[in-house]
Amino acid sequence: MDRERLGVLQLDEELRDMPSEIRNVLDPVRLSGGDRLRFRCHPGVSCFNVCCSNIEIILTPYDILRLRRRLDISSELFLYNYATPTTLAKGQLPVPIMRMDEETGRCPFNTDAGCSVYEDRPVTCRYYPIGMALMHRQDVKGEEEFYFLIREDFCRGHEEEREWTVFEWRSDQGSDGYDRENRGWMELILKRRSAGDGVNTSLQLSEFFYMASTDPGAFRRFIFESTFLKRYYVDDDTQERLRGDDQYLTEFAFAWLRTVLFGEKNIVVRPEAVEELKRRKGKK
Ligand code: SF4
Ligand code: SF4
Repeated sequence: MDRERLGVLQLDEELRDMPSEIRNVLDPVRLSGGDRLRFRCHPGVSCFNVCCSNIEIILTPYDILRLRRRLDISSELFLYNYATPTTLAKGQLPVPIMRMDEETGRCPFNTDAGCSVYEDRPVTCRYYPIGMALMHRQDVKGEEEFYFLIREDFCRGHEEEREWTVFEWRSDQGSDGYDRENRGWMELILKRRSAGDGVNTSLQLSEFFYMASTDPGAFRRFIFESTFLKRYYVDDDTQERLRGDDQYLTEFAFAWLRTVLFGEKNIVVRPEAVEELKRRKGKK
């Protein structure tokens, strides 16, 4: 069985849309940060490395940033070598997943000695065996976050003695920092999902989202080498930061996408661009 999307990006309300083979390995108890789990993973476990094959790992923007810096390659080359685009559900925004070795099903960073990129491993790998769910609720402003435990038969880590709270586990694995960096991306995916058919995401906007999530250099070229700055007001300080700070640029890109998709007023449209749009609409 391929293990899918067990990790940071379980956005489905009540998690009910998941295939049964996934639901079956989820402990149906909602966990909060203070709840405890018993778990330890180390090279001495009999299942060492088993979890690093035949798995679908969604790569978040910060995963890609960390991995490509570690490998000292461009985003473009990283995507070419290690990622495949997919969508979480029909009509939803595209996300990259790690490409497993076609013959062995093994993660490209898995070695007999363990993970070769351990310090920069993706956030899904950091969370395991916990999944984090982010849920939009109509009755509460903002998103609700909770956790759940993943129990797969092959994983012997649950038999170890070491106990943690969920928060302790997250902190020990370095997941919190990743969540902070990926917040804008996760919220945008969740908002798009909650909007359902009410928001029409064109192919072009989906491509922009994928570009913003994976390749800051390409999005930078879009800002500075297209008519973007003629259409949107971006002050000099912001432009300066956009030129040199990939993480800032990624957040800016998501703010722009929220402006375009949901009408949020994050980025100011220039009055002359509004007039031009009205003029074009009037001609039709
Ligand atoms: S990145 Fe590392 S921890 Fe994650 S699946 Fe690959 S080898 Fe395993
Ligand atoms: S299957 Fe569980 S205990 Fe075994 S290596 Fe993977 S995470 Fe660790």
